[in-house]
Amino acid sequence: MGRAKDEGIRWDGLVEVMTNLAVRAGSMERCPHGTALDLLDNEPAFALAAEEFENGKLSEFRDLGEVKAALKAAFDNAGDECTACQKIKDE
Ligand SMILES: [Zn+2]
Repeated sequence: MGRAKDEGIRWDGLVEVMTNLAVRAGSMERCPHGTALDLLDNEPAFALAAEEFENGKLSEFRDLGEVKAALKAAFDNAGDECTACQKIKDE
């Protein structure tokens, strides 16, 4: 029970690392509210993730499969737009 919870927390951290990497790669951007937005070009992020993992920068990941899975989850979590931003535009 406790272990599963720890794994969940670890996974959330890995997805956050991949979200930040995707922002650096230009595949995502963060709006002023900190919401990650999918810019619909995932390739640069996957290329950067593979490169950084091979260079030993992503040592918190067990293998490249985990890197890709976390990056995919990061894209799944990212929205097309931020609801708070949309609200400001609509007003
Ligand atoms: Zn926003």
